Amino acid sequence: MPGKVIQVERRAKLGFIERLYVPMIVKGLVVTSRHFFRNLRGFVTGKNRTDFVVQYPEERIDYPDAFRGMPVLVQLENGQPRCVACGLCEFACPTDCISIVPGEIEGAGIERYPVAFDIDMSRCMFCGLCEEACPEEAIVLSREVEIAGYDRGSMLYDKERLLVPEPLLKRRLEFLRGEYDREHAPAVERG
Ligand code: SF4
Ligand code: SF4
Repeated sequence: MPGKVIQVERRAKLGFIERLYVPMIVKGLVVTSRHFFRNLRGFVTGKNRTDFVVQYPEERIDYPDAFRGMPVLVQLENGQPRCVACGLCEFACPTDCISIVPGEIEGAGIERYPVAFDIDMSRCMFCGLCEEACPEEAIVLSREVEIAGYDRGSMLYDKERLLVPEPLLKRRLEFLRGEYDREHAPAVERG
């Protein structure tokens, strides 16, 4: 439930009443009180709930598809990451929080995969540059933001923690295809 956008008129020249200062303070208090009592009535009666902020964590909002949460790796049906360990996201990341160890898939010629793929979430700023740089739609920003930890070590996410099945990322992937004018995902063949 996104909030309303209200255009506030700001005049360059103030009128006589406005220049008196106190009447405008009273007017401001009236506006604040009106909102307070309207929201209180909504809280008691359960109506007009759109007037409230989100009662987190009991209530959650459905973030828009453009929302940038924690970066995750797209997991194919066979359980493997879509990533081909090209390193472009690692290069694009402004905080150097991605670390990839590439390997070759046996019997697949030059096909590569990430033996290790770590992201230090304590340094990630959810900028999305990794997602933009990726030619394979293999790393995307999810809706996950609840990633607090008690120490820095727990903020180091390895490949297993980063993998998310592709169907769960459908909305973000479709949003990205719209953004970048792509009709479908790049083809990835895995043995
Ligand atoms: S979202 Fe930005 S900071 Fe985080 S891993 Fe991707 S490129 Fe790096
Ligand atoms: S840019 Fe994409 S394919 Fe390349 S290493 Fe990063 S996630 Fe993998």
